[in-house]
Amino acid sequence: MGLFHWMFGTQGGSGLTCTVCRRELPRRYLIGPERQGFCPSHNLDRSFCRVCSSPIPPAAQSSPFCQDCRQSSVGQAGEAMALLGQVQRELRELGLPWWPQSVPVNLSAAVQPPHVATIHWQRSQDAQGRRRVTFQEIRVSPDYPRLYLGSLLAHELGHAFLVQQDLEGLSPVITEGFCELCGWLWLGRQRDPRAVRLRARMENSITPIYGEGLRVMIASLGPQGIAGIAAGLKVTGSPTALAARLC
Ligand SMILES: [Zn+2]
Ligand SMILES: [Zn+2]
Ligand SMILES: [Zn+2]
Repeated sequence: MGLFHWMFGTQGGSGLTCTVCRRELPRRYLIGPERQGFCPSHNLDRSFCRVCSSPIPPAAQSSPFCQDCRQSSVGQAGEAMALLGQVQRELRELGLPWWPQSVPVNLSAAVQPPHVATIHWQRSQDAQGRRRVTFQEIRVSPDYPRLYLGSLLAHELGHAFLVQQDLEGLSPVITEGFCELCGWLWLGRQRDPRAVRLRARMENSITPIYGEGLRVMIASLGPQGIAGIAAGLKVTGSPTALAARLC
């Protein structure tokens, strides 16, 4: 979610119209992620598209995405798997040293709110006593727009990476921040202009774990990019420690 501020209009109405319902703004109104005014009575989470931050009229708020973004919805498992393959390849090119070969994407299993996607795995030991991890599936709701789904898949692959590297004990801010960074970096490679808006939405998120975590990670990015952060987490549990030692 982007940033919202309380604003106060002038006496007798501000003369401005709400970007969500098009009525005149009340005296006390809110400013949206791109400085659009809107009535405080609207549902914040539903009033602006989760991808591009465009206002969504009240009658269309059964979906958190605008009509434009909904046109790129991924409804088929095959399409989702192809996108996952692309995300894996691009994250590898961005410098993450390891990815699971293949994780099925399940578009029909229920995802428990407030999560929008989850990854499931199982731990086991082989005959020599070595710990193994098998990734079973990534669950996401069907009909997410392609950019949004891609960023979620990159986020879940971030979790897969941390699990595979035995980095499950990091703080939630570091864990989710690292996974958000995977999504944010992936979006940075996409040509679709809406990727810039979704990235800004992630950077400005007011959530203490996801938003704050991502900002910590972006501030820690050095010349080695995400590879440096991954190496730092592996050695010390901190995103910057290794980069600092290498300087
Ligand atoms: Zn309104
Ligand atoms: Zn949109
Ligand atoms: Zn996560």
